[in-house]
Amino acid sequence: MTATGKDTPMSILVYIDHAAGVGKPISWEVLGKARSLADRLAVELIGFVAGKQVSAVATDAIAYGADRVLVADDAALAQFRAGACTAAFKAAIAAAAPRIILAPAVAGVRDVTALAACELGIGLAADCQSLELDDDGNLRADRPIFAGNILTTVTFKAAPQMATVRPRSFALPARDGARAGVVEPLAFASDTRAEQEEVLGFESAQTGAVSVENASIIVSGGRGVKGAEGFAPIRELAQTLGAAVGASRAAVDAGWIPYAHQVGQTGKTVRPDLYIACGISGAIQHLAGMSNARVIVAINKDKDAPIFNVAQYGIVGDLFVVAPALTAAFKARLGR
Ligand SMILES: Cc1cc2nc3c(=O)[nH]c(=O)nc-3n(C[C@H](O)[C@H](O)[C@H](O)COP(=O)(O)OP(=O)(O)OC[C@H]3O[C@@H](n4cnc5c(N)ncnc54)[C@H](O)[C@@H]3O)c2cc1C
Repeated sequence: MTATGKDTPMSILVYIDHAAGVGKPISWEVLGKARSLADRLAVELIGFVAGKQVSAVATDAIAYGADRVLVADDAALAQFRAGACTAAFKAAIAAAAPRIILAPAVAGVRDVTALAACELGIGLAADCQSLELDDDGNLRADRPIFAGNILTTVTFKAAPQMATVRPRSFALPARDGARAGVVEPLAFASDTRAEQEEVLGFESAQTGAVSVENASIIVSGGRGVKGAEGFAPIRELAQTLGAAVGASRAAVDAGWIPYAHQVGQTGKTVRPDLYIACGISGAIQHLAGMSNARVIVAINKDKDAPIFNVAQYGIVGDLFVVAPALTAAFKARLGR
């Protein structure tokens, strides 16, 4: 007998997170990975959506790979509240009888998965960066522990097996509007905790600049920029390319740029088409956040810097010479 009370857990359940009725890219990244796991296990892939008027999210979930989507559509879910969402999520787990449960490791969903895991006695691996199946079809998940000092592999023995996944750990799958699937309403018992939570409002943390998380091009600066003002040539190159500005932890810790720009183990995981690292040595913790970039260009004075081991294009030189030269060349080429 499993924690869901069913004998044969035969599905993969994915928590589809959204913002005001628009699915978040991380949801589709997780769904895309779940699709490949479901195909290997030959089980049904079920999405779970909670909110008010979220039918468009359910339709997108089918287009991104779900076979079936359970939709908890209720006024209590109009704004994110952990108690109400947990009640709905637990109902989805009971309905889906999943072997594996995956969810985005993002604010809000982290709370819901932890609450559901505790209340249902399900094993949870949080903040995972990679997911695989072992020979017995059990989930194997890599996740950082001890503040990112150690990367550990978690395996599960019993079902369901639950994991939350860091953004950009997996590629965004292609959307296929022609895919067929079933959307079903999901009933759930209201939770008294829901009435104890009141949402007073939301404030956006966005600064107006391109955010690193979803950028297709990132220009990053490290300790080699030597100060806050040293980010000027990085920003100019980024602006010319329509890119986001990233940073190493060394630059963030020095107070040269806010934490929101930090890439790496304890910062953001990114997966851009192009990542230009300027004055960044390539420490393992930085690589953990950006080595999945499609093309990596490194600019460093030190020809032996480890960043050159992962870069497809390496420029040995002074970033204060090379970055402005690249900016001028791109401006000329792009007519900006
Ligand atoms: C638990 C833990 C978590 C961590 N998490 C992260 C994380 O999320 N992200 C992260 O980035 N780090 C993280 N770190 C820190 C990481 O170990 C490194 O210390 C950090 O990445 C180094 O940053 P850096 O490459 O900018 O600096 P350095 O390693 O000092 O490298 C600076 C580079 O700049 C080059 N340089 C200097 N001047 C120039 C110039 N004028 N032109 C060109 N090149 C120049 C140098 O040759 C050197 O290679 C973490 C560490 C720990 C212990």
